[in-house]
Amino acid sequence: MQDIQQFIRDIPDFPKPGIVFKDITPLLINGKAFHRAIDLMAEHYQGKKIDQVVCVEARGFILGAPLAYKLGAGIVPVRKPGKLPHETIQTTYELEYGTDTLEIHKDSIPAGGRVLVADDVLATGGTAEGVLKLVEQLRGEIVGVAFLIELGFLKGRDKLKGQDVFSLIKY
Ligand code: AMP
Repeated sequence: MQDIQQFIRDIPDFPKPGIVFKDITPLLINGKAFHRAIDLMAEHYQGKKIDQVVCVEARGFILGAPLAYKLGAGIVPVRKPGKLPHETIQTTYELEYGTDTLEIHKDSIPAGGRVLVADDVLATGGTAEGVLKLVEQLRGEIVGVAFLIELGFLKGRDKLKGQDVFSLIKY
């Protein structure tokens, strides 16, 4: 995965001191590298009959949308509060400091729908865990959770026990 990893840039102390931010924009601006990253992620789900890719605002949209297109699946946006226009359900989850809230449309996943959850980075796993709760509340069947990048040292996987967690690049 060296060929993809070289397009991920470390930004120290962003957005606050002590955080090393994984900047994926060098990958996004390179057509060949972006194409290959999406192809490699989609490969993992070939034949798994994904109905919908649930994408987390905002960078999850960028990766989840081409992934859904490639898999012939629909896209379900998960957004910050107040952005979705129809009836929603919410989840509030712990961050390193404080909490955050995400919303999903109540009617976006049919019961039993086969869902893949996608985001750019798995860090502490709090965000993904919150999104899984939303999908479970709507009775979607979670086929997997996909990330471009996993920060293994933060042990986010431990929060997603029992799920098929796939990440293309691990640190
Ligand atoms: P977490 O809930 O801790 O797993 O954090 C996941 C969310 O925060 C993802 O949506 C990422 O976009 C973002 N994130 C957390 N840590 C980083 C990092 N070091 N670099 C880039 N994005 C990050």
